[in-house]
Amino acid sequence: MGKRKSKRKPPPKVKAIVPLDTQFDCPFCNHERVCEVKMDRDKNIGFISCRVCSEDFQV
Ligand SMILES: [Zn+2]
Repeated sequence: MGKRKSKRKPPPKVKAIVPLDTQFDCPFCNHERVCEVKMDRDKNIGFISCRVCSEDFQV
């Protein structure tokens, strides 16, 4: 008997669309979402600075 197999399409991978998040957990003081990112588009780098412990670093 020819049963029709319903092809199950694998669900499309949902891209995690993260709206440009500019707040991160601080690796220095472990506060959450206290690091703000400023992008330097000329140099293509981001400056991250923590407003709790005032640490800053580049990525
Ligand atoms: Zn911090």
